[in-house]
Amino acid sequence: MLNDTSMKQPRIAIIGGGPGGLTLALILQKHGLASTIYEREEADANAERGGSLDIHKDSGQWALKEAGLLEQFQAWARYEGEDFRLLDKHGKIYMDDVADATSASGGRPEIDRGTLCDLLLGALAPSTIRYGHKLIEAVPHADGRHELHFENGLIDTVDLVIGADGAFSRVRPLLTDAVADYSGLTMIELNVVAAEHPELAAFNSRGKLFALDDHKAILGQLNGDGRIKVSASFRAERDWLEASGIPFDQPEEAKRQLLELFEDWDEQLKDYIRCAGDAVLPRRIYMLPVGLQWASKPDVTLIGDAAHLMSPFAGEGVNLAMKDAATLALAIVAHIGGNSGAALAVAIQQYEVEMYAYSSISAKLSDDNLKLMFSENAAFNLKSLFD
Ligand SMILES: Cc1cc2nc3c(=O)[nH]c(=O)nc-3n(C[C@H](O)[C@H](O)[C@H](O)COP(=O)(O)OP(=O)(O)OC[C@H]3O[C@@H](n4cnc5c(N)ncnc54)[C@H](O)[C@@H]3O)c2cc1C
Repeated sequence: MLNDTSMKQPRIAIIGGGPGGLTLALILQKHGLASTIYEREEADANAERGGSLDIHKDSGQWALKEAGLLEQFQAWARYEGEDFRLLDKHGKIYMDDVADATSASGGRPEIDRGTLCDLLLGALAPSTIRYGHKLIEAVPHADGRHELHFENGLIDTVDLVIGADGAFSRVRPLLTDAVADYSGLTMIELNVVAAEHPELAAFNSRGKLFALDDHKAILGQLNGDGRIKVSASFRAERDWLEASGIPFDQPEEAKRQLLELFEDWDEQLKDYIRCAGDAVLPRRIYMLPVGLQWASKPDVTLIGDAAHLMSPFAGEGVNLAMKDAATLALAIVAHIGGNSGAALAVAIQQYEVEMYAYSSISAKLSDDNLKLMFSENAAFNLKSLFD
């Protein structure tokens, strides 16, 4: 705990209040270091962004422990969410793993993104986060500080700026020219209310179902809020969403046209599209170059998707964002004191070296998994990985 009031604390700005930014601010707070999160949304929007996340023992769960929230997480975690079924388009089952819901032995229990972020927000001093602040640009000063320009007109000058602002980070250009590139994969997100479709809910299991074939996928996952999040995914040109002519704002017609893409798939698998409710959300999957690094600077760095955006096929993104947050926070806490400028430079460098080592392995795994899941005979190939 940093409680020497004679010590000058650096002004730390975290851009983005996703899982990475929130975890970072909370661990700093736990060690007596203040920071400000600037978030572009007007209020917390994490619940609306995607569904259930599996939280891994040595990354996400470790970060939660450092944040003092492991026990609260365990109370919410869904261990039965580790059920996993793997099929091909004919409905042939390749894997049917049933998790032990009564034990916390599983290394990857599930939690909804909204619930996870509510836990983090609940422990964070409310004054830490400033909503409605979209960063437009961070301008470096000669003295090493950064001037942050926000869309609402606010300008703030800080000693350290940390980009936790996701795929299209506005902080990243301070460190590298790399930009998030289309991965070649397009996903259409749908939702099925499980209670309204008990047969499909039983077929889906309590966790995830992957149906893979013909370079396409239907992925279903039961969330804690009773919805099955569905993703109809396929390889496509970058402009496919526009070129396809599918009216995504007209759900019934969009679903009808989507069903044509999966015409020769098993009827029960097509139910994931048929039974879906009114929101049809198309998205392209982007990624940064695998193994991205930059020349370290003493007063700016990146965590999470801003640093190493990858496709979701290793289930690592949120875990890495939280592990980055904990690694960086602990490095700052360990080095701060004495000459704060020099100490921050050492802390950032130490964090970046560690982060490059573990995140490049996950980025390669995500990329390999993407290629495998959309390969010829994908269900067989994925099953072979587990043999
Ligand atoms: C379809 C899909 C499924 C996924 N499934 C999984 C999964 O199962 N498991 C897993 O581990 N990961 C998964 N991920 C990845 C995971 O969502 C991300 O890796 C994770 O959210 C990264 O956290 P973050 O805090 O770095 O960034 P984000 O969650 O993207 O948060 C960034 C925050 O910054 C804010 N922001 C952005 N720009 C600005 C700005 N200019 N000024 C101020 N604020 C700004 C945003 O509003 C947001 O709140 C999935 C991703 C997708 C797309």
